[in-house]
Amino acid sequence: MNERLKIAIQKSGRLSEKSLELLKECGVNLLGGNGKLKAEAKNFPVEALFLRDDDIPQYVEQGVADVGILGENEVWEKNKNVVIIRKLGFAGCRMSLAIPKDENYTGLSYFMDKKIATSYPVILNRFFKNHKIRVEIEEISGSVEIAPGIGLADAIFDIVSTGSTLLMNGLKEVETVIESEAVLIANKKLGKTKNEILEKLLLRIKAVRNASENKYITLNAPEAAVAEIIKLLPGMKSPTVVKLAEKGWYGIHSVVKEDEFWDIVDKMKQLGAEGILVIPIEKMVI
Ligand code: ATP
Ligand code: MG
Repeated sequence: MNERLKIAIQKSGRLSEKSLELLKECGVNLLGGNGKLKAEAKNFPVEALFLRDDDIPQYVEQGVADVGILGENEVWEKNKNVVIIRKLGFAGCRMSLAIPKDENYTGLSYFMDKKIATSYPVILNRFFKNHKIRVEIEEISGSVEIAPGIGLADAIFDIVSTGSTLLMNGLKEVETVIESEAVLIANKKLGKTKNEILEKLLLRIKAVRNASENKYITLNAPEAAVAEIIKLLPGMKSPTVVKLAEKGWYGIHSVVKEDEFWDIVDKMKQLGAEGILVIPIEKMVI
């Protein structure tokens, strides 16, 4: 009894705030404050461990933590025996190769026998092995972007988001090797109770993610357009259609995907829809 799912999250860094926010939206409110190693949730059988993201794969493999939230890039790099359960939709970034900006880039073969500085030697080695290109990898733990400038390497492999750090260091991005985002990983042998807690947590994560990807929409339409508008709006089962006080007019309520929204609105307007309201959804359990 009283078993708790131990969830490892980053202690401080780019993932911390969003990880805590996701758990909070899932109804997992962690007690305890700054600088702590552990915190318990008061209303859900979860205990959080605050760790460096580098250590999370190992701890989850060993069962010190049952699940963890971290960047996919770190999961690939550490190559531990854990399962990726699902993507979480935040901390998106890409990992790219960059070279001095005045170099003439000729394609991947440019890197043959070049020295590349990185904090991600495993991912980089696998990439060049697949492409059958021989490179020398110089592993450094931080400030990778200065390596070419100080003569340590010919090129770098690192996380890029806007590219401004590269630019500042006289580099240009020439190849994207992988794209990454935050994921939930789990130990391969969770017991029955922990699996049940994880299932509950996943249902909640799904509800939160669905909600952020969908919008609630309401609009008014003349009777003649209702059938066509319904075809545009799948809704959760099917749209709700209600009679308005004004004769010949109907209100239609439905759920639409955020990325399809503008396209649908344009078409509905053409069909004669009026008073279109779009409302954010807080949770969506389907
Ligand atoms: P720790 O002290 O926990 O080891 P860190 O310095 O390794 O932290 P952060 O810089 O906090 O890590 O980045 C954590 C993760 O955030 C990265 O592994 C990556 O998945 C993701 N990320 C998203 N955008 C960026 C970015 N622009 N730069 C670096 N990481 C990013
Ligand atoms: Mg780290």
